[in-house]
Amino acid sequence: MRVSAAVLNTKVLVLNRSYLPVHITSVRRAFCLLYQGVARAVNEQYHTFDFESWADLSVSVHDEHIGLVDRLVRVPRVILLLAYDRVPRRQVRFSRFNIYSRDRNLCQYCGKTYPRSELNLDHVVPRSQGGLSRWDNVVCSCHACNRRKGGRTPEQAGMRLLHRARRPEWTPFMLETFSPRRYKEWMPFLSTVDASYWNTELLE
Ligand SMILES: [Zn+2]
Repeated sequence: MRVSAAVLNTKVLVLNRSYLPVHITSVRRAFCLLYQGVARAVNEQYHTFDFESWADLSVSVHDEHIGLVDRLVRVPRVILLLAYDRVPRRQVRFSRFNIYSRDRNLCQYCGKTYPRSELNLDHVVPRSQGGLSRWDNVVCSCHACNRRKGGRTPEQAGMRLLHRARRPEWTPFMLETFSPRRYKEWMPFLSTVDASYWNTELLE
């Protein structure tokens, strides 16, 4: 049985040399890295394999696999970069996308969920009153709440914020590893990512 090319676009967890998760990539790219010899595939027993030894593993009917030129090869779900020992950047980019993600598409005034197209970014303290465009002063708001608030602070408008705005503790990469769409093969490595590791501010 030959699996469709769609599997090449599914996700693979990337570890650094110390087995810490640093990235998510595609199966396609993971195979490139393996083939180039800059990465090793990692199985559930933490054993590592170069491209040849991985390609030699037998494929059982239950394994995800792809058809290469002359054989079926298991799809790796975790790879390790041999020469990479950095950890991911912790700074979360101040972007519309990340603000919506932090606020989970909830209007921070009425608490309802909206499609992103029906949300604005709202300056809690309006710019006209000296409010800055920063994590702690920008939140998601629906159009109705935005209009009601106008150019006023929440207090002036008699409105309340659901949560005080703050810089999120995660990175988009982390958000993905905590999503329900992660693979069971990732779990042994994600569980090593404890809160103190992620909450430590790292120097570049
Ligand atoms: Zn609202």
